[in-house]
Amino acid sequence: MENKPAPHITRFSDYLKPHQVIFDLKGKDKVEAIEELLDLLAKQKLIENKKLTLTRIIDRENLVSTAIGSGVALPHARVDAEGEIAVAVGRSEKGIDFDAHDGQKVHLIILVVWNPTLPGLFNHLFAGLARFLIRPENRGRIQGAKDKTELYDILAGIEFKFVHEEKIVSRARMLKKLQEIELRKKKATKEQQKELQKHAAMIREEFDRDVLSRFDRLMERYGFAVADAIDGVCQSCNINISTQMYSAMEDSNDIYVCENCGKYLVSAKKKKK
Ligand SMILES: [Zn+2]
Repeated sequence: MENKPAPHITRFSDYLKPHQVIFDLKGKDKVEAIEELLDLLAKQKLIENKKLTLTRIIDRENLVSTAIGSGVALPHARVDAEGEIAVAVGRSEKGIDFDAHDGQKVHLIILVVWNPTLPGLFNHLFAGLARFLIRPENRGRIQGAKDKTELYDILAGIEFKFVHEEKIVSRARMLKKLQEIELRKKKATKEQQKELQKHAAMIREEFDRDVLSRFDRLMERYGFAVADAIDGVCQSCNINISTQMYSAMEDSNDIYVCENCGKYLVSAKKKKK
């Protein structure tokens, strides 16, 4: 049996500092509120290009609302920046219309801007936040916060568990995960499909449009897009991958394509003898 690495626990306070919280947002609509939070991050030099970041966030928002229900929204964008992640939180007493699927106004906005060189990080944060916010008692505590300090203290304590090996999820592995989800979706019930779709959307966030459109084309044509590379052999076409590429794959986060059959490659464990 393999030893499972101990989970590495971080808290929201590692990413969120007290001066990144606005207790009473002035913005009256979605764009104004997001802009207010970005102004805060720009002032603290946590983001470089406010205009670009705003565009990215709004584009993402127009795709599907990031309101997760019960008055919470998690607008986000992937931006190439120096820092690894920038987070800002805003609270609105009145509530802001975010086109939430449950029709509720949003009272808590957690905005996340992250760097694409850290695959998986956003998914972990998102999962950790969702896990915390799904509990009515936690949302109640947030709602009941009387001032900025109280609100910050509640949020600061949110825990994220990173399993070491997951901390550097390889991009190829994430593509494989996306493939698994797309395949499961075909056999799933309507209700399950919704969940799988959410998960797929989250993974898709991590990739560029080019990678994804190629992925979708391969899925459509062959029913799969990612092939295991075992002992240097592509398992889709059974042809040897060049030794150079195979060893480069091992310790790289780039995505490799089989030169013979064009599938994305993920290096898999050696075959059991
Ligand atoms: Zn191949």
